[in-house]
Amino acid sequence: MENGADPADPLEREIARTGRELAAAFPPPLRNPVRSADARAMELAAGDAELKAALFRFVDVAPACRSLDDLARHLTGFLDEVQDAPGPVAAARRIGGSRAGRAALGAAAAGGVRHMAHRFIVGETLEDASGTLKRLWEHGAACTVDLLGEATVTSDEADAYAARCDQTLAGLARIASRWPGRDVLERDSLGPLPRANVSVKVSALTPLLRPDAPERGREDAVRRLRPLLVRAKELGAHVHIDMESLDSREAVLGVVLELLSEPDFRDGPSAGLVVQAYLRDSGQMLEQVLEFARSGARTPPLCVRLVKGAYWDHELVLARQHGWSAPVYEDKAECDRNFEALTRRLLDARPAVRVAVASHNLRSVAHAIAYNRAAGGEDRDLELQVLRGLGDELQEALARHGHRVRTYCPIGNLVAGMAYLVRRLLENTSNDSFLHARASGVALDELLAAP
Ligand SMILES: Cc1cc2nc3c(=O)[nH]c(=O)nc-3n(C[C@H](O)[C@H](O)[C@H](O)COP(=O)(O)OP(=O)(O)OC[C@H]3O[C@@H](n4cnc5c(N)ncnc54)[C@H](O)[C@@H]3O)c2cc1C
Repeated sequence: MENGADPADPLEREIARTGRELAAAFPPPLRNPVRSADARAMELAAGDAELKAALFRFVDVAPACRSLDDLARHLTGFLDEVQDAPGPVAAARRIGGSRAGRAALGAAAAGGVRHMAHRFIVGETLEDASGTLKRLWEHGAACTVDLLGEATVTSDEADAYAARCDQTLAGLARIASRWPGRDVLERDSLGPLPRANVSVKVSALTPLLRPDAPERGREDAVRRLRPLLVRAKELGAHVHIDMESLDSREAVLGVVLELLSEPDFRDGPSAGLVVQAYLRDSGQMLEQVLEFARSGARTPPLCVRLVKGAYWDHELVLARQHGWSAPVYEDKAECDRNFEALTRRLLDARPAVRVAVASHNLRSVAHAIAYNRAAGGEDRDLELQVLRGLGDELQEALARHGHRVRTYCPIGNLVAGMAYLVRRLLENTSNDSFLHARASGVALDELLAAP
């Protein structure tokens, strides 16, 4: 064990026990011979970098294709670039050689993309999604709703996104008021927790977010986010600001801390931000956030969601293109160790902050639960969060064991959701991913060992 963790250490023993307990309710996926086409495609892609790149390019253009023929032409075009194509890929190329074959291939491909999207996206509109959100709540999981559509290009798009956030806050507060009481999901030792919870992206609130002129983007985003905070305060709802790629981090942090410092927002709404542990300087960012949380004495306290980070490939490619040193850890174990160190710092910082640990990695999650208990914390003072479609089994296991779990639920159409979908596919097919390791049959003891 690289970090010297001793398996006889009581914390390590508790992590292993908690992890095994959760894993019992969360078995690895069965190797089902009748898997869906998209699952087979992801499996093939995981082992072949060229095929993976071709499929990502295809997923990117799929929503813009006008016919099945068009879709199949794009698919075979991208697959043509794959050398030493595995059997199913060569077959797809052959089928794509005729008009009738292309129609069949196009229909299968369109179905595959739609199937994949439905796994991660809960509905096109809040109305479509309301049944799923209610069922989640009844099964012991709260939600945070994310409106797909990021990186807006015009002011009109940013206005439209802000209007959709406003309508969603109001709609969700109305829908959620009819859900049955669930003490574990709506109260911690500091007080009540809003049922309506919306995650917002600053890059969708302004087209002016540029690292070379951060002030303009910041002012523009503040102008649209302020009314949303006013609205959330009126409704008793929660607004969470997602974190995106590193080039927007300072602006996002600036927007959130500036707005939450305003006298009108000292006593609400409930709000939160995100710290990404894959960044080498994430410890410094966390210190800045904790300093703000301790000095402001906000009620309710700021909620900090700890994640590893969803833009790992992007940050690495960008740094290489510019000859910069990588801002992210390049060794997965280092990233995981940092995630655990930041988890402990956050849990120790309560009650100045509320803590949400967002991960599908059983070790990272078991570590947070075990450390919280070892530090004398109650389970209800630690929130665990998962993504819809990736963390469904873990969500059920956590709910069954009485933990507060919140599922991140994207809403929107396929075109708006493409960037989101591609990020989830990258995670699913990465060889360093916990979910990939678990699906490949790596032993539970190995998965639960200290990173
Ligand atoms: C509820 C929720 C909300 C989220 N919100 C955000 C958000 O606002 N912003 C955001 O950026 N992400 C967000 N994410 C995504 C998150 O950052 C991770 O991408 C995702 O959860 C996978 O991490 P894991 O701990 O589940 O899995 P793991 O498999 O343990 O970790 C995978 C992660 O490790 C990192 N990684 C992969 N390979 C390497 C390597 N070679 N070296 C170093 N590190 C590596 C990457 O960050 C990768 O995503 C959210 C996730 C959840 C569950």
